[in-house]
Amino acid sequence: KYRRELQLRKKCHNELVRLKGNIRVIARVRPITKEDGEGPEAANAVTFDPDDDSIIHLLHKGKPVSFELDKVFSPRASQQDVFQEVQALITSCIDGFNVCIFAYGQTGAGKTYTMEGTHENPGINQRALQLLFSEVQEKASDWEYTISVSAAEIYNEVLRDLLGKEPQEKLEIRLCPDGSGQLYVPGLTEFRVQSVADINKVWAARGLGAGSAGLNLVDLAGSERVGKSGAEGSRLREAQHINKSLSALGDVIAALRSRQGHVPFRNSKLTYLLQDSLSGDSKTLMVVQVSPVEKNTSETLYSLKFAERVRSVELGSGPRRAELGSWSSQEHLEWEPACQTPQPS
Ligand code: ADP
Ligand code: MG
Repeated sequence: KYRRELQLRKKCHNELVRLKGNIRVIARVRPITKEDGEGPEAANAVTFDPDDDSIIHLLHKGKPVSFELDKVFSPRASQQDVFQEVQALITSCIDGFNVCIFAYGQTGAGKTYTMEGTHENPGINQRALQLLFSEVQEKASDWEYTISVSAAEIYNEVLRDLLGKEPQEKLEIRLCPDGSGQLYVPGLTEFRVQSVADINKVWAARGLGAGSAGLNLVDLAGSERVGKSGAEGSRLREAQHINKSLSALGDVIAALRSRQGHVPFRNSKLTYLLQDSLSGDSKTLMVVQVSPVEKNTSETLYSLKFAERVRSVELGSGPRRAELGSWSSQEHLEWEPACQTPQPS
């Protein structure tokens, strides 16, 4: 019975992919907080379209710029509202699709709030895992399953296990020796888990981030550009590595979305690690986090350009093209690669 349901769902999925693509890019604007300070710098610079929840307007240096994404959440959106957008992905994950959810944006724009949230108001990670376990338990009489978690950090293009006994150990990404062409990370610690409480125990003991089989939840590093932060030495090197992997991720998602033959997975550890999860039967959601205040508009503009570049390439045919007909102002949408940063001295 479940297999029939699965076939039906796959059919629905394929139809959806045909219409919408399997990569969605949404934005979430955080509220203005006390930390934003006072005065003109902390003034609001972001507005919304009351009739169209896929449009966001930004006032940058006195000039209005608009973007169209798959969906835009205003500061009033709750964690539950955002999760509504994610819910279907978790169901697909159980049906055998790979799912990647990324939070992108400058430091302080709300990435961790969206992914992790707070104890009182949990974000995508907790809600996704709750749903994963409850859906799986519902089906437990029909099929067998195992859920295991692992967690890794990529810092300066070095991959480290966050759950291992030796957290400092460097790991490598390798091709499976079985000739399947799949990738794996020898030595990456994996825990079998039965419940969200199990997962929480595992990562309360060590660190952050989680990847269940087939479900990748990624809180990316801040996207702010180095030039502005005036970083030097090791901070500059760190920023360059971050820029490199974020821009590689943008390239990969744009290539996937436009169904280009060549997808440049190998340009960074992040994209190489996620290669299997991003290709084939996979669904990706990029949540671009946006700060609403005046002083951040340069970074906000950059993030929204990134978002639009990542999502807008695919629209070669199909119904959305007509909807996008009014988007002719290439001037605002021009893409500058994130890796054009000064070399370390
Ligand atoms: P990032 O991870 O992108 O650096 P954070 O998630 O830490 O940013 O968010 C910065 C601050 O803004 C935190 O204090 C966070 O609690 C707050 N914040 C972010 N998004 C929201 C939101 N949607 N509602 C309320 N507070 C938020
Ligand atoms: Mg954070």
